[in-house]
Amino acid sequence: RGKRAFIAGVADDNGYGWAIAKALAAAGAEILVGTWVPALNIFETSLRRGKFDESRRLPNGSLMEIIKVYPLDAVYDTPEDVPDDVRTNKRYSSASNWTVKEAAESVKNDFGSIDILVHSLANGPEVTKPLLETSRKGYLAAISASSYSFVSLLKHFLPIMNPGGASISLTYIASERTIPGYGGGMSSAKAALESDTRVLAFEAGRKCKIRVNTISAGPLGSRAAKAIGFIEKMIEYSYTNAPLQKELSADEVGNAAAFLVSPLASAITGSVVYVDNGLNTMGLAT
Ligand code: NAD
Repeated sequence: RGKRAFIAGVADDNGYGWAIAKALAAAGAEILVGTWVPALNIFETSLRRGKFDESRRLPNGSLMEIIKVYPLDAVYDTPEDVPDDVRTNKRYSSASNWTVKEAAESVKNDFGSIDILVHSLANGPEVTKPLLETSRKGYLAAISASSYSFVSLLKHFLPIMNPGGASISLTYIASERTIPGYGGGMSSAKAALESDTRVLAFEAGRKCKIRVNTISAGPLGSRAAKAIGFIEKMIEYSYTNAPLQKELSADEVGNAAAFLVSPLASAITGSVVYVDNGLNTMGLAT
């Protein structure tokens, strides 16, 4: 049987989640995605109308098939956690079963189990503010959407993950080196995500033989990155200073993710793997 993957954080064809989905599909996996509720409508409409058909093309010429799109808001674990103003919000009330627990239950009801869990989502409402100007609310929101969301997803999907399976998330070097402009507690959130990768690798490894790794990716002009505001500058900085002077394509991260969740990486867990043209190794701008 082919592997089945659930990829949380796909809402267009520009980001890392989409590229990971494609790499996994090219390797023969069945693709399920979790799409942020406010972005669900436009994503499904665009999919249906063929807007992504060109970017669905796989190396063998066939088109990636997304078997099912699940609405998801990874900031809420159970229906009891959802505040009234969100519940009654038009975009949210038109979808259902989008808390993490319910999404895992839906996948279980539809398919029974998965082999691969991908976390490719982040959100920091105050990302453009320096840490010194970040509110407690903004900081905690960044951690909730970008770090605890992974703890929660793994917790709820682990019971339906087949032993030998694997999970992967996406992090950024701002967790360990100061990147001015990556604010709002997002640097803190990535530090938490990387630390949690080690602890969760231990716990999920011992309990369920599941591997947990994270990819520290170089800069990509995704929708989320554009919201931060300095992504073009980071791409240029990387091009100028990295050992490999080429633009980083999302597919390169997708391929690394496909390797890390495959049996080829069966002894790799708890790791932060850099997929950044080597930029992290430099100590001097050139
Ligand atoms: P993206 O916009 O493609 O992905 C982010 C996704 O998160 C979006 O689809 C968005 O709808 C979703 N999302 C936000 N809040 C959510 C919530 N509460 N529940 C569910 N989904 C939610 O952008 P991307 O840059 O590909 O981001 C994917 C991952 O890659 C993130 O973790 C990001 O931090 C990481 N990353 C990105 C870069 C970069 O330069 N783009 C570099 C390193 C790491």
